[in-house]
Amino acid sequence: AGLLAPGDLFGARGNSTGFDLTDTETLARIEAARDVSIPDATPLTVMPASGKTIPVRNPVSGEIVAQVTQADAATVSAAIEQARPWDAPPAERADILRRAADLYEENFGGIFATLAREAGKSLPDAVGELREAVDFLHYYAAQDEVLTAAPRGLITAISPWNFPLAIFSGQIAAALMAGNAVLAKPAEQTPLIAAIAVRLLHQAGVPVSALQLLPGDGGTVGAALTSDARINGLVFTGSTETAKLIQKSMADHLDPGAPLIAETGGLNAMIVDSTALPEQAVRDIVASAFQSAGQRCSALRCLYVQEDVAPHLIEMIKGAMDELRVGDPWQLSTDVGPVIDDEAQAGIAEYLKTNANRVIHQVSAPESGHFIAPSLLRVEGIADLEREIFGPVLHVATFRGADLDRVIEAINAKGYGLTFGLHTRIDTRVQEVSDAIKVGNAYVNRNQIGAVVGSQPFGGEGLSGTGPKAGGPNYVPRFVLDAQVTTPE
Ligand code: GLU
Repeated sequence: AGLLAPGDLFGARGNSTGFDLTDTETLARIEAARDVSIPDATPLTVMPASGKTIPVRNPVSGEIVAQVTQADAATVSAAIEQARPWDAPPAERADILRRAADLYEENFGGIFATLAREAGKSLPDAVGELREAVDFLHYYAAQDEVLTAAPRGLITAISPWNFPLAIFSGQIAAALMAGNAVLAKPAEQTPLIAAIAVRLLHQAGVPVSALQLLPGDGGTVGAALTSDARINGLVFTGSTETAKLIQKSMADHLDPGAPLIAETGGLNAMIVDSTALPEQAVRDIVASAFQSAGQRCSALRCLYVQEDVAPHLIEMIKGAMDELRVGDPWQLSTDVGPVIDDEAQAGIAEYLKTNANRVIHQVSAPESGHFIAPSLLRVEGIADLEREIFGPVLHVATFRGADLDRVIEAINAKGYGLTFGLHTRIDTRVQEVSDAIKVGNAYVNRNQIGAVVGSQPFGGEGLSGTGPKAGGPNYVPRFVLDAQVTTPE
C-alpha cells in the first residue's frame, strides 16, 4: 500500500509526444533550424572562468564546430565555494523544472542542430533524446510531493557524450529537485548542448549558485570535482573504468557517506530461440545493435541464436544490415551516423582488423569521415568478447536448446548486468530466463534500447552500475539524506 508504480508520477500528463518526422510541416520547421548559430560554452559559473580553450569537433568530419573555454582547477574550486543548495520550496523547484522542459521543447531547432553537429546524432535520435530529457524533467519534478527529507548539499554530475542532453539533464534535474547544488561536467566532446541546457534551466529560474556548468577534461575538471571534500555526492554515467577511478578518488577524499550513483558499461546479450518470430526478431536485433551507431550502453553486443534456426536467421540479419544507410546524420534516410571521434573510430577499426577472421558480414560506409561499417562477427559465445566495443559491431553465436542454462551462466559470468533481450514464444521460458539472468533491464520480444522514463526505469547491476535506476521512483530519493521513500524497482 502507498507504493508508487513507476509510471504513476507522470499523472495525467504522460510522456512527451516528441516530433512527428512524417509530418512535412514539422520537417520544414526542423530543416529551418539547420543553420542556427551554435552557442559558445564557456563555464557558466558564479565566478568568471580562466581556463584554456579547446576545440569541439564535428563527429562526421572532425572539423571544428566551436572553441570552448574550459574550467580549470581554480574555477572548480571557486564554483564549489560559491555553490548554494537550492532552498526554494519543492513545489517551486518542480514548477521551474517544468518551465525548463517547455523551454527545451520551444528551442528544439538549436537543440537538434547542436546534437547533429556536436554529437553526430541522427534526426530520429535527436528527437528521441529531446523527448527523454523533457520526460526526465517532468518525471523528477513530479516527485515534489514525495520529498520530505533534506538535500545532501553539493552534487557533482559527470555525464557522457552519447546522451549529452538527456542523461546530462536527468542527472541535474534529479539532484536539483532534491534541493542540492549541482556542479555539472559535460563530456569533453559535447559541451555545447550542455551549455544550451544550462542556459535554459537558468532562464527557467534555477539560480546560478544551484547549477554551474564546468566544461573541461577528466584529468583536470573531473579530478577536481571528485576529490574535493566539500562534495557530498556524485552522479556519473560513462565507462566502468572511469567509474572505478572516481570510486577510488571519492574513497580517498570525500566523506564516506557520500554516494556514488553510477551507470556504466555493458556486454549486453540477446537470446533468440527457435520459436521466435524471425521477422520481429531481426528487426529488433538490428535496432538494438546498430541504432545510434551502437553507441548506447544498452546496445546489443552478443546475440545467441538457437542452432536449428540460425542459418536462416543470420541470412535475414545480413539482408537487413544491407538496408542500413550509413552517413550524414542530418539526412532522414540515414540509419547509422558517425562514431563520436577519430579516437573511437581508430579503436573500433583496430578491433575489426584484429578480429577480421570473425567478420561474416559488413555494410558499406562512406570512405571519408568517422564512420564504421556495421559489422557482424561470428563468435563461439560471449566469453570471446573481451570488452565492450562502443560502436555498430554485433557478435553472433549459436546454441543448442539443451544448453540454454549454460548460455545464461556465460552471460552472467561476464559480470556486467545492464540490458538483455529474449525472443521466444514459450511463456514459461520468459519467466525462467528472466529469473535467471542478472541484469537491470530485461526485454522480451522487442528491442533492448530506448528505455522510457517512468515506465522502464533504467540501470544495471554488477559492473554496469550502482543503481538506483534513472527514470524510476528510487532515483531522486538517493539525492536526499534519510530518504522517506522506497519503492521496489
Ligand atoms: N537509456 C538508454 C537506452 O535505454 C541508454 C543510456 C546509455 O547509453 O547510457 O537506450
